[in-house]
Amino acid sequence: MTKKSLLRPAPTGKPVAPSELTVGIVRVLKRIYAENGAYYRNAYILVAACLLSIGVTTAFSAWIMRDVIDQIFYNQRADLIAIISGTVALIFVIRAIAMYLQATTLARIGNDLVARYQRRVYDKLMRLDVSYFSEARSGRLAAQIGENVGAIRDVLSLALTSLLRDFVSLVGLVIVMVVQDPRMSVVALITAPALGFMSAWLSRRARGAIRESVGLNARVIGSIQESVQGVTVVKAFTMENLLATRLTGLIDNAKQKANRVSAIAEQMIPFSELMAGIAIASVIAYGGYRAIYEQQPPGSMFAFITALLLAYDPARRLSQLKVHLERAVVNAEMLYQILDMPERQSDKPGATPLVITRADITFNGVDFSYGESGKVLHDLSFVAPGAKTTAIVGPSGAGKSTIIALLQRFYDADNGQILIDGQDIATVTLATLRGQIAYVSQQPYLFEGTIRDNIRYGRPDATDAEIDAAARKAHAHDFILAQSNGYDTVVGENGVTLSGGQRQRISIARAIVRNAPILLLDEATSALDNESEKLVQQALDEVMDGRTTIVIAHRLSTIVAADQIIVMDNGRVVETGTHGELANRHGGLYAKLNLLGLGGGGTMAGSGEPVKAAEEITAEPRRQAGGEA
Ligand code: ATP
Repeated sequence: MTKKSLLRPAPTGKPVAPSELTVGIVRVLKRIYAENGAYYRNAYILVAACLLSIGVTTAFSAWIMRDVIDQIFYNQRADLIAIISGTVALIFVIRAIAMYLQATTLARIGNDLVARYQRRVYDKLMRLDVSYFSEARSGRLAAQIGENVGAIRDVLSLALTSLLRDFVSLVGLVIVMVVQDPRMSVVALITAPALGFMSAWLSRRARGAIRESVGLNARVIGSIQESVQGVTVVKAFTMENLLATRLTGLIDNAKQKANRVSAIAEQMIPFSELMAGIAIASVIAYGGYRAIYEQQPPGSMFAFITALLLAYDPARRLSQLKVHLERAVVNAEMLYQILDMPERQSDKPGATPLVITRADITFNGVDFSYGESGKVLHDLSFVAPGAKTTAIVGPSGAGKSTIIALLQRFYDADNGQILIDGQDIATVTLATLRGQIAYVSQQPYLFEGTIRDNIRYGRPDATDAEIDAAARKAHAHDFILAQSNGYDTVVGENGVTLSGGQRQRISIARAIVRNAPILLLDEATSALDNESEKLVQQALDEVMDGRTTIVIAHRLSTIVAADQIIVMDNGRVVETGTHGELANRHGGLYAKLNLLGLGGGGTMAGSGEPVKAAEEITAEPRRQAGGEA
């Protein structure tokens, strides 16, 4: 996959030139602003005004120290006491209001930004093709996205507060210092270049460690999530200690990386303290010398030292800004990598809606490979006639699931065409293609929500009566009513409060309610008890009725009942016919699979019931032959 990103992050751990670093930060900031600036313009203006007020009032509070000392204490002007102290009080009232407005508005923008990016990432993930998810681990991805999204808020609040409030305060205070005493300002600012240099050097060193730290944190949270999801397997195989050992290794690694990031970032604190100490000591020495030997009045000296002390905090924060921004920017870049992923399975230019007449499906010389690995389907051709059932059988790995995936355009064929009623599915809109297909997977997946919600996902505009009717057809109505809240019962994660057969019947009801002309069915291999299996089979018969059905068949009854059987081996169609025709074809793969009960994995069509299949299937042709005779 060619991942063309607008942001090209530096590879992990590799040193990055300072200019590139700054460019990275500026590029991310520009992009976040370009994408969200207009939406928050008024709020930004309010925050900017507040931060400017904070900066200006800070500088002013230093400035006024000269009048406090010179006018009140030195010149003994009693008439100015009320004016000066009143002004100081007013400054702090303005600062208090500005700080409150700034903090609440910024928090609101931040929370809103998080919500916007969460929605954007979710939409993007849902548009990405399935190959992305076969490579990504869901727990890790969710954890990483959680951290990445939070960082977007940090980028913005750090940049706004530091650049506006601290920068404006600092500039204001430096102006106060220069105006009060230009020569002493040179002494005070002598340490500034060293601070700037150190900041750039440390943020460069922190970048690689931060990237690794974010990745490791995501792995830790992802591993915990996977263990929780698979808790029954973990317990059944007594994997607790093994998994705990692995997780401890990961956690230690993540802790070490986090310590390393802190160790680098926190070096800025002693360094800035040291530089501040040097600056203040130099100013006291130089100012003291001038007060004693040059009899300078104390007012400007006081104002200068007040400005210098007030400048210390914003200067320290600004010198740490780059290192702190680094974490936020690394996270933002990771998020943009996801948002910039190409969507290969989107509508082609000029795509038209799929129009269904008979719902005939034709594979015409289809070649397909997953990425760089070799061909999985070779020149595959067959026709699944409208309103008939086509069963696909073959050994494990033959390419059966790939056919179902291609039909839904989860991937595009490398060569050849897949046609539905003569229309190439590559040229129709995805929404109309998938809208005409109902898919029942081997693992019925139930989503967060009620049973009714889960059936309605088949067609959002289905009425309650239609849902009820679909559940009845799927033989699910009775057990649904037996639940505590009937159709409004909330299902646990992955439907754990329901049995396997019940979950399958709900997913079949979902397919029935969709009322699509094409049904793709990956028959479950997991064994159900006889009663449950019978109910599922009856439900399937209902949903298959009158639809073009392609079924990856594992149950003998499904295969025998199919209008046509496609036998696959190694990505090729090797035989086509009905059960009666194929089972009696001497030397044919189907006959062999039946008689031996063996297919690739020692099963019939990769199913888990070899012996049963062999016995029943060998009995079946005789019964059929007898019947025909
Ligand atoms: P089974 O009966 O075991 O489910 P199948 O006949 O459905 O097998 P497919 O799942 O279509 O077989 O797989 C066909 C081939 O494609 C296999 O060799 C498999 O390893 C490969 N394959 C399947 N999915 C992917 C994927 N996402 N990425 C790469 N290769 C894949």
